[in-house]
Amino acid sequence: MNDSETNLVTAYIGLGSNLANPSEQIKTARTAIAQLAGVQELVFSSLYHSPPMGPQDQPDYVNAVMCVATDLPPMDLLRGLQRIENDQGRVRKDQRWGARTLDLDVLIYGDQIIDLPDLIVPHTGLAERAFVLYPLHEIAPQLLVPGKGRIADLLVKCPMNGLKRLD
Ligand code: ATP
Ligand code: CA
Ligand code: CA
Repeated sequence: MNDSETNLVTAYIGLGSNLANPSEQIKTARTAIAQLAGVQELVFSSLYHSPPMGPQDQPDYVNAVMCVATDLPPMDLLRGLQRIENDQGRVRKDQRWGARTLDLDVLIYGDQIIDLPDLIVPHTGLAERAFVLYPLHEIAPQLLVPGKGRIADLLVKCPMNGLKRLD
């Protein structure tokens, strides 16, 4: 297939982990995402350390953001990411925002605004979450977030809330 027949979209994926060696979980997930059929890694942010959102009786998180080129439709990308979460031992519990080995969210999918029962893009929490905005800004400082505006403008309105960039 030549380039004119492919339909590559630039997408951003948020990665988070706070169980079972979080930094390693993130690195393993990065490799697994890059190995999904129809997904190519373009850029990967630094790792960040952040206090938990929601229930406070859980460990701090390691977070990162990955930029990919993909020809997968958005729901196929989500299913691929959920398979990787499961492979890395994610257990789904009733408690919202509880501890997990791996959380992979579709943050942005090209310039699309998606509102499906199982997939909302741009991701709902994107504009309010330091652990998403800062790594996203690190790798895409000029990004326009569909329906939400420029990443730089979103960033200045979001305090770091204890977020620390790791070396
Ligand atoms: P949050 O979505 O607020 O970050 P969470 O990541 O802890 O919370 P999950 O339990 O991982 O939430 O996912 C709950 C559901 O969210 C999933 O089953 C999925 O269908 C849905 N969902 C909706 N939009 C997205 C998205 N952009 N990326 C990933 N999952 C999404
Ligand atoms: Ca999440
Ligand atoms: Ca999620």
